[in-house]
Amino acid sequence: MEIKFIKREKLKEKPLGNLGFGKYQTDYLLYRDYKDGKWEDPIIAPFENFSYNPSMYVLHYAQETFEGMKAYRTNEGKVLLFRPLENAKRFMRSNERMCMPVIPAEEFLICVESLVKIEKNWIPSEKNSSLYIRPFMYATDIGLGVKASKTYRFVIICSPSSEYYKFEPTRIYVEDYYVRAVKGGTGEAKCGGNYAASIIAAENAQKKGFSQVLWLDGVERKYVEEVGTMNVMFKIAGKIVTAPLDGSILPGITRDSCLKILKSFGYEIEERKLSIQELIEASKKGILEEAWGTGTAAVITPIGELYYQGFTMKINNFEVGEVTKKLFEHLKSIQFGEFKYLDWSYEVK
Ligand SMILES: *Cc1c(COP(=O)(O)O)cnc(C)c1O
Repeated sequence: MEIKFIKREKLKEKPLGNLGFGKYQTDYLLYRDYKDGKWEDPIIAPFENFSYNPSMYVLHYAQETFEGMKAYRTNEGKVLLFRPLENAKRFMRSNERMCMPVIPAEEFLICVESLVKIEKNWIPSEKNSSLYIRPFMYATDIGLGVKASKTYRFVIICSPSSEYYKFEPTRIYVEDYYVRAVKGGTGEAKCGGNYAASIIAAENAQKKGFSQVLWLDGVERKYVEEVGTMNVMFKIAGKIVTAPLDGSILPGITRDSCLKILKSFGYEIEERKLSIQELIEASKKGILEEAWGTGTAAVITPIGELYYQGFTMKINNFEVGEVTKKLFEHLKSIQFGEFKYLDWSYEVK
C-alpha cells in the first residue's frame, strides 16, 4: 500500500471560537476505493465534494459502516491517538457483519496516522478539545438490486471539535416503545443504519426536555442496554454494573477502558443483565448511587435523572458523582498524555 498525496494550492483559514462537534472540515481527506476484489492505493486529497450517481447502493440500502476516534495534543505538543488498534479491529468486525470488504488493521492505522500527520495543525489546543476523526466506508455500486455491492469507498475525514457536552448531569428518557437492536441484528456493528432507526426516539425525548434515550433490550423491553451514542454504567451499592456484550450492544472502546480503570481502582465490576425494575428498586432504596454514559465523542456523560413510564429516578441529587468525576479526569489525563497507562496512547510522529 502506497499513499498518494495531492496537495492543496491554498490552505483554509482555521475557525476561531467554539468549534462545536463535526461542524468544520480540515484541508484534506483520505479515500481509498475497492474494486475488482481488491483495495486500490489510498489517496490524500483536498477536502472537496464527491459527486455521485443517485443509483449508488448506499443511498438506497444503507450498506455503510463507520468509526469515531480523536487525536489529542499534549502539553508538550505531541500528537496522541487513544487505543487506535481497537478502532481498526472493530471496523473490521463491522465490515464483516455488513458484507463489506475488510481493511487490515495495520493499513487502517497507517491511513489514519498519515492523514492526522498532515492535519496536525488542525488539532485544537484549547482545553478538552481535539481533532475528531471519522473513518467510514460505503457501497458504491450503481443499480437498485438488493445485494452486496462489489465496489466500495473508504474515507477518512477530520473535524476540529470542542467538548461534546458540558460535563454536567443530563436527563435521560428510558425508551419503552422503540428499540435500537436485537440479537442477530446489527446492534454490535458500528453502522449508520442503527442510527437511522433510532433517531425518532431521540427526537421525541428531546421534545420532552431529555437529552438522550436509554435503550432497553429489543425483545422484552426490560433490560438496560445503552444510551444514544454511548454505553452506560451504574454504581449500585458500591458496585459497578453494566450490560454485557451479548450481540445487541456496541462494544465501546471507552466502555472497555472504563471497566479496566475501575478495576484498577479496586471496584467490583458486574457485566450482567440489569432490568429497569431493578434500577427502580435500587433508586427507591437509595442505592442507585451514580450513572454515566461512556463514548469517544463525549468521553463520560454524567446522568442526573432517568425517566421511565411516569417515574423519575433522581441520581445523586442531580449532581456529578464522585466515581463519574474521577473516571472522567483519569481517562482524559491518559488521552491527553498527562498520565501513561498500559499501551493505550499511540504517538503520531
Ligand atoms: C460508537 C458508539 C459507542 C461508543 O463507542 P466508543 O468506542 O467508546 O466511542 C456506543 N454506542 C454506540 C451506539 C456507538 O455507535
